[in-house]
Amino acid sequence: MIGVLRWGHRIPRDSRISTHVVLTARAFGADIVYVDTEDKVLEDTVNSVVERFGGPFEIRTGVSWKKVVREWKGVKVHLTMYGEHIDDALPKIPKDDVLVIVGAEKVPRDFYEMADFNVAVGNQPHSEVAALAVFLDRLLDGKGLKRSYEGAQVEIVPNPRGKTVRENVPGRE
Ligand code: SAM
Repeated sequence: MIGVLRWGHRIPRDSRISTHVVLTARAFGADIVYVDTEDKVLEDTVNSVVERFGGPFEIRTGVSWKKVVREWKGVKVHLTMYGEHIDDALPKIPKDDVLVIVGAEKVPRDFYEMADFNVAVGNQPHSEVAALAVFLDRLLDGKGLKRSYEGAQVEIVPNPRGKTVRENVPGRE
């Protein structure tokens, strides 16, 4: 189980980038994303992608981050440019039941203390989307990008020169 906790989501300022955080989490192998601020528009956007392109994948907004962290059974990894370099941290991180935490703004000091690992995807400032993508890809050895999705209405068939989309009508072979 791979979870992502998005902390500090502000509507409307972070709407676009939080959508990218959640879709990146899904596409790179996470199972669930928790967002601290309630945002039904974000939920609807993500759920319509899941309906069309498949799941399982869950989004929950308006959650208490403290509760999510407290109840998470596995390790907690906080992504921050101030952390230990990913190359040094990754060998110590178990591969299952990982909660990955990304901020939207300056995160409270608590995060650095409650995390099992504070991990930097390079020690330069960039983006939570980039940090999450690189971290998940490294954590899952690229397998997140190859997972299969169930119940999809449409499926993209890789095509080196154009777009091929297969419409899957439920119940039809
Ligand atoms: N200005 C904020 C601060 O000083 O904490 C950071 C904003 S940054 C755009 C938002 C999030 O991106 C951070 O909370 C962190 O999760 C992630 N992030 C940015 N650069 C990172 C890096 N080099 N390594 C890991 N995470 C990073």
